[in-house]
Amino acid sequence: MLNTKVVELLNQQVNKEFYSAYLYLDFSNYYYDNGLEGFGNWYRVQAQEERDHAMLFIQYLQNNGEKVILDAIEKPAVALENAKSILSEGLKHEQYVTSLIHNIYDAAYSVKDFRTMQFLDWFVKEQGEEETNADNLIKKYELFGDDPKSLYMLDNELGGRVYSAPSLVL
Ligand code: MG
Repeated sequence: MLNTKVVELLNQQVNKEFYSAYLYLDFSNYYYDNGLEGFGNWYRVQAQEERDHAMLFIQYLQNNGEKVILDAIEKPAVALENAKSILSEGLKHEQYVTSLIHNIYDAAYSVKDFRTMQFLDWFVKEQGEEETNADNLIKKYELFGDDPKSLYMLDNELGGRVYSAPSLVL
């Protein structure tokens, strides 16, 4: 059995990951609506990854005999102002998710829950990559976004992102 507080936070994280998927789907829809299908594709794949994260938290709870409690998923609460501002919101959101993962890690650490810490190690690394990816998108947009030809090529590049299942298997 896992610590009650740790279980509560893991359950909350299921909801947060589904919310991330929902938020990124909203981003994706914005880009598709505005003719940037590559950006739309990139965030659509990102949404699929977030759904996978939620499923991993569910699987981990179940593997440990804990009950999964699904809560309502909030409506995406980020203003979709323009193609570039969304990328900044994406980075902000990933930084927030990193803080959530660290918070669960902290709770597990405080009760010497080594199993949960080991499970979360993958997410700690993953969050580092998510923040880098989000930051790279901003940098690329800053470099190329103002020139239509370059933006077209960047959009094409992002259209090449394909979904792959997470490397963590439970
Ligand atoms: Mg995630």
